[in-house]
Amino acid sequence: MYDTVIVGGGFAGLTAAVWLGRYRRSTLVISSGPSRNALSTAIHGYPGFEGGNPAELLDKLCREALGYGTKMVTAIVEGVEKTENGFAIRCDGETYEARRVLIATGTADRKPDIPNFEEYEGVSAWHCPACDAYEYTGKKIAVVSWGENMAGYALNFLTYTDSITVITNGNEPGVPEDHLSKLEQNNIKVLTAKITCIEGEHGQVERLLLEDGSSVECDGIFYNIDHKPRLKLLDSLNCEITSENCVAVNRKQETNIKGVYAAGDIAPLEELVLVAAAMGAVAASNIHKSLMPESQRVE
Ligand SMILES: Cc1cc2nc3c(=O)[nH]c(=O)nc-3n(C[C@H](O)[C@H](O)[C@H](O)COP(=O)(O)OP(=O)(O)OC[C@H]3O[C@@H](n4cnc5c(N)ncnc54)[C@H](O)[C@@H]3O)c2cc1C
Repeated sequence: MYDTVIVGGGFAGLTAAVWLGRYRRSTLVISSGPSRNALSTAIHGYPGFEGGNPAELLDKLCREALGYGTKMVTAIVEGVEKTENGFAIRCDGETYEARRVLIATGTADRKPDIPNFEEYEGVSAWHCPACDAYEYTGKKIAVVSWGENMAGYALNFLTYTDSITVITNGNEPGVPEDHLSKLEQNNIKVLTAKITCIEGEHGQVERLLLEDGSSVECDGIFYNIDHKPRLKLLDSLNCEITSENCVAVNRKQETNIKGVYAAGDIAPLEELVLVAAAMGAVAASNIHKSLMPESQRVE
């Protein structure tokens, strides 16, 4: 029986593991694979670590957590169930037991349907303006997006540049007329042709080739299509999910199900490394307090 099992070894989960280690709580981290920004070469906006490598930070967090005695298993957690004494966490034919569970499974992004997109991702193709648009100040940005969030997303980039082209990649723009006129007012062109290929070298985009034979010169691609917080485990524990498709948590990062905590991109707030890590630390502190016996507490 662990004090805590953490599902997800990204920035939220590993920060929680480090803190739970410092609180001398027995902890197991079960994680299945890469963090959301694994393909990115640099983290921006993480104070004191500007431009640092995300894999390096995760590796450091892992080593720090192991140093406090945290156990780690690589596996996909298939289910978490409430038991008489806590929780049973199932993966790979094993069942682990814990008094508390922290879900930090992150979010999966839908990538643009462009044949050679992977070659550019994390080098000159990005998702988050707050994380990566600063580096494109005064440069040419192509935004791949459509649907109701498209205009708001594209307008974000005016903070950095006035050279923005939206490409819906063969989809209907699907935005209200007033959104389109805002884009027009700001000289943001909307093209609807499908992108057939990205051209450039060593992951640095130079232009996008479109199905209608035209091309768009650009220094960076930003995409916003759809992203899905990985909420399956929380859903099956009957945790409340908000209308914004996040798990509802209180200020302790605890869900409506006692003993189930959630942190990182699956919880409300900005989807940033710093915020995920902070949520992990808050969850750890409150998990630790919740595990203290009555005899050690005073109100
Ligand atoms: C291209 C890109 C660039 C970015 N750049 C920045 C940046 O510069 N600065 C910044 O602050 N933020 C950046 N972000 C956002 C940042 O990556 C996220 O906010 C951060 O990773 C969230 O941390 P997390 O711990 O919630 O999730 P993650 O780091 O994604 O970790 C979740 C972990 O859970 C695991 N997992 C999922 N389901 C299961 C399961 N069932 N069983 C076991 N394990 C599971 C996953 O494999 C993963 O390891 C970027 C995102 C992208 C996509």
